[in-house]
Amino acid sequence: MSTENILQNYINNEWRQSSASEYLDVTNPATTEVLGKVPLSPSAEVDQAVQAAAEALVEWRRTPPTNRIQYLFKFKNLLEANFDDIARTITMECGKTLDESRGEMRRAIENVEVACGIPTLMQGYNLEDIATGIDEVMIRQPVGVCAAIAPFNFPGMIVFWFMPYAIACGNTYIVKPSEKVPLTMQKIFQLIEQVGLPKGVINLVNGSKETVDTILEHPTIKAISFVGSTPVAKYVYGRATANGKRAQCQGGAKNPMIVLPDADDELTRIAVTESAFGCAGQRCLAASLAVMVGEAKDWFPDAMTEAATTRVVGYGLEAGVEMGPVITSQSKDRIEGLIQKGSDEGAKVLVDGRNASISGYEAGNFVRPTILNDVNPSGEIAQTEIFGPVLSLIHVNTIDDAIAMVNSGRYGNMACLFTGSGAAARKFRYEAEIGNIGINLGVAAPMAFFPFSGWKESFFGDMHGQGRDAVEFFTQKKVVAERWA
Ligand code: NAD
Repeated sequence: MSTENILQNYINNEWRQSSASEYLDVTNPATTEVLGKVPLSPSAEVDQAVQAAAEALVEWRRTPPTNRIQYLFKFKNLLEANFDDIARTITMECGKTLDESRGEMRRAIENVEVACGIPTLMQGYNLEDIATGIDEVMIRQPVGVCAAIAPFNFPGMIVFWFMPYAIACGNTYIVKPSEKVPLTMQKIFQLIEQVGLPKGVINLVNGSKETVDTILEHPTIKAISFVGSTPVAKYVYGRATANGKRAQCQGGAKNPMIVLPDADDELTRIAVTESAFGCAGQRCLAASLAVMVGEAKDWFPDAMTEAATTRVVGYGLEAGVEMGPVITSQSKDRIEGLIQKGSDEGAKVLVDGRNASISGYEAGNFVRPTILNDVNPSGEIAQTEIFGPVLSLIHVNTIDDAIAMVNSGRYGNMACLFTGSGAAARKFRYEAEIGNIGINLGVAAPMAFFPFSGWKESFFGDMHGQGRDAVEFFTQKKVVAERWA
C-alpha cells in the first residue's frame, strides 16, 4: 500500500494520519482501479476534531461576520481556480460524467456565494416600546460545533448545502464524507487549508458507521446535517434528537413525472430522459416513475425507448459519454435484481439494461438505461427507490388519478408535471404532497437561496439545507428586553 494513497483526516488545520485499524478501498466504478484507501476513523479521532472545533469556537463566534465571509470569498476563488481538477476527481470516484461533475461543483460554489450574504441574512429584528420605555430585540447567535454526514452521490456539493452557512454564522464544523467517495473532500480540504481559516474552524474526519455513531453521541456537537438513505436518515435523526441535538436529515426518494396529454413532446422527452438517466439515476432528484395521463401513453413509451437505447454509456472522463456506471458492484446487482422483480410483478421490459458490457471497461459497474412499462402500481418496483438508470411507466386516466398516485407514495422529495395548461400546473403544485415541484422541468433542484425542501420520508427535521433555512438551522435566537431609567 503506497502511503500517498492513504487518505488523511484534517484536524485543527493539520493533516493527520488516522490510527484506524480498518481501511476501505476507494474504487473507480468505471475502471475498478483502486484510487486510495480510506480510514474508518476511531472515536478518539472524532473527539480530537470536536475538541479542535470547540476551542476554535471561542474566537470564531466573536469574529465579525464581515470578517468571517472574507474567508468564504477566498474559498470561492480557490474553488473556481481548481474547478476542473475537483470535477475530474468526482468523475473518477463517483462515476458521473465530467459535465455532471462540473454541474455539481457549480451548485456547490453557489452556496458559498449565498453564504457570503450572512451579514444581511443573519440579522434579527427589533421593536421599540413593547411597553413604555422598553425595547425588545431578537439576535441570532451560533449554535456551536456542528457536523455534516454526506452520501456518495454528490461527493462535492452536498456538504456545501450546510458548511458555508454554518461557519458564516459563527459555528465551527466537522465533515464526515461518504467512505465510498472521500477523495473529493480531500481535494476540497486542501483548498480550505489555503484559505487560512483559524485553527479548528473546519475539520475533516473520514469513516463510516462507528465514526457517525460517535458524532451522534458526542455531547459537544450541537447540530447535525445528514443526507443519505431513508433508513439511515431516520436512525440519525432519532439518535441525534434523543441526545438533544438539532438535526436535519434528508433521505431517499421515488420521484414521479406526470405527463399530461397536452405536454410538449420534445421538451418532455428531453427533460425526463435527463432526469431518469443523468448521473446514472443516482440523484435524489432522479425521475423514477413516469405517470402517463390519457393519450400521453400513445407517444411516451416509444420516445423513452428511443432515448434509453441511444444513450451513450461509458467512462465519464471520455468525450461524448452521456452516462457513467453506478457506484459499486453491489449497487449494480441490487438494481438488476429490482429490474427482475419488476418483470416478475408483470411489467414489460421495453429496454433491458442488465448485463451491460462496455468496451474497454468490462469490469465496471455499468447498468444501461432501462424502461419498464405497465408497472404494477401497488408492486414493490413502483414504491422502491431503485437509485439506478431505471424508469418505470404507469398509465392512468386523469390528473386526479396521477396526483393521488403521487400522494400515496412514502417519499416526498420531488414531483414534476409536464403540461401546457396553467390551470393543471396550479392544481398540481397546490395538491401534491411533495417538497420540491417541477413544472415542465425534470430535475427541480432548488437554487442555493431556496431550501432543499423534501417532505415525508425524504426528510426528518424542520429546517432544510441551503438559503434562509440554513441560517435558521445554524443560529439560535436570543430575545432581549431592555429598560433604561
Ligand atoms: P447511506 O445512507 O448509505 O450513507 C450516507 C452516510 O451515512 C454515509 O456517510 C455513511 O457513511 C453513513 N452511514 C451509512 N450507514 C450507516 C449506519 N448504519 N449508521 C450510521 N451511519 C451510516 O446513503 P448513500 O448510499 O451514500 O447515498 C444514497 C442515498 O442518499 C439515496 O437514498 C439518496 O436518495 C439519498 N440522497 C438524498 C438526498 C436528498 O436531498 N434527500 C440527496 C442525495 C442523496
